[in-house]
Amino acid sequence: MSARSGVWNERPPGIIRALPMTRLNELVTRIRACRLCEAELPNAPRPVLQVSASARILVAGQAPGRLVHLSGVPFDDPSGDRLREWMGIDREVFYDAGRIAIVPMAFCYPGTGPNGDLPPPPRCAATWHGALRPKLRKLGLTLVIGLHAQRHWLGEQAEDTLTATVAAWERFGPAVLPLPHPSPRNNRWFQHNPWFERDVVPEVRRRVAAQLAVSD
Ligand code: SF4
Repeated sequence: MSARSGVWNERPPGIIRALPMTRLNELVTRIRACRLCEAELPNAPRPVLQVSASARILVAGQAPGRLVHLSGVPFDDPSGDRLREWMGIDREVFYDAGRIAIVPMAFCYPGTGPNGDLPPPPRCAATWHGALRPKLRKLGLTLVIGLHAQRHWLGEQAEDTLTATVAAWERFGPAVLPLPHPSPRNNRWFQHNPWFERDVVPEVRRRVAAQLAVSD
């Protein structure tokens, strides 16, 4: 998306082509049946996402972790608990697909390496995001979570590091907030960057509340 305007880029990095236009429910059915990465994933593909045409808030994340792969519920883990705390909402609101969309860079658990979960396979966003993006027409706020999502969705407007991009949150306009990944693995990052909890988290809550208050 254009970080300043809050609308999607016409061609974000990684999007190689758009699939033919289909209805959203048909598209989601195709995504849930996707097996493109079957040979590379540690488990059978289990695409996890949450979307609706009426969603006002997009959680643009990285990829499901192991617990989410098991449950099939996005952010059903300690990362999700912290994210909901940042957003100031409970599980009931978070899992209301009519208001909140959850679209990671990859819909399936990529497996774990020595330094944590492996990066999302680029094929997923390249295959599906271009078709999904136009279906989410009512977004007023996108939370761009983690380095991979920031490079993808913010493109050249992302800074060289995640910390620099998050620290520059004010320049992305009212419809976009870059955030670190809420994983407990990042606890040291939170300790070293107290400005995030002090300055950015209250803004996350304010913007989320404002979007949830919008009525059509
Ligand atoms: S990660 Fe994406 S592209 Fe790969 S199998 Fe899962 S849904 Fe398909």
